[in-house]
Amino acid sequence: QILTNQIAAGEVIERPASVVKELVENAIDANSTQIDVFIEEAGLKKVQVTDNGDGIAADEVKLAFTRHATSKIYTQDDLFRIHSLGFRGEALPSIASVAKVSIETAVADQSGTYLSIKGGVIEEERPNKSRKGTTIIVEDLFYNTPARLKYIRSLQTELSNITDIMNRIALSHPEIAFRLHHEGNQLLHTAGNGDLRQTIAGVYGTLTAKKMKLIENENLDFKVKGYISLPDTTRASRNYITLILNGRFIKNYALNKATIDGYGSKLMVGRYPLAVIVMDADSLLLDVNVHPSKKEIRISKEKELGELIQSAVAAVLRTEER
Ligand code: ADP
Ligand code: MG
Repeated sequence: QILTNQIAAGEVIERPASVVKELVENAIDANSTQIDVFIEEAGLKKVQVTDNGDGIAADEVKLAFTRHATSKIYTQDDLFRIHSLGFRGEALPSIASVAKVSIETAVADQSGTYLSIKGGVIEEERPNKSRKGTTIIVEDLFYNTPARLKYIRSLQTELSNITDIMNRIALSHPEIAFRLHHEGNQLLHTAGNGDLRQTIAGVYGTLTAKKMKLIENENLDFKVKGYISLPDTTRASRNYITLILNGRFIKNYALNKATIDGYGSKLMVGRYPLAVIVMDADSLLLDVNVHPSKKEIRISKEKELGELIQSAVAAVLRTEER
């Protein structure tokens, strides 16, 4: 069982950022409105995620660490949950098989639970006074799988993977307040008041957010709304374009390119804009291809969606020129 979990961990938990992503997504699924992430040594020493969500009932905590135990029901329509279908009920047992994990959790009006697991073996379980919500601490990731450790890049690279994923998750959920701390430095702090521009301010800074321009466009199939930087605020990487479709961030080359193409010749070679593009589409137009190690979303009429983005960007930049 532990070995199976370690093998699954090889697919689901590639690096510290995967731990952060899985734990934070669980906190989101639990209806949290505040999610705090504390990291040490780029997540290899410690990842702590504290949320104020629903919590786990005392008699279900152990179960949550059992393979294929999930409290979530997936339906065909639930397209954007399908991304985790391949990992359904796999994240917690996988993480617990390759690290030291402790959890403190409580549901409303019940006394809570403390549970600790090391390398997949439960060490301690006892009732615990805690407020509603969950804190999960993952320490010494890959301590028992030295082969995994070899794949780990520099701490700086691993930390920037974590920041990148946290930024995108926070931008996709303006209604949730996120904080990310690395060894005492606050790297992210969003307000959680539902406002996209203020969320961007929490991620990229108030000044940057203030200077960004609103874009809006729609047709019968899609709605596009977002904020883009003027050509004078650019970055050296495409990573600062965040695409959010039906509430989830996606990677999509064509839509990235559409955003960039909206700038025409206004961008210098090798420079890219800062942009957060929020799109809504009828789920009938989306086809999610699930594979345990990757997720892919195919969008019918992707070209039309790209044109909506490109023309909205171009229009805003034209008005700015006048
Ligand atoms: P999945 O998310 O696919 O269901 P996980 O292994 O990530 O699988 O989590 C297992 C179960 O543990 C979840 O279905 C949920 O019931 C519970 N759980 C995990 N994290 C939290 C959390 N932060 N708050 C409440 N419940 C949680
Ligand atoms: Mg999960």
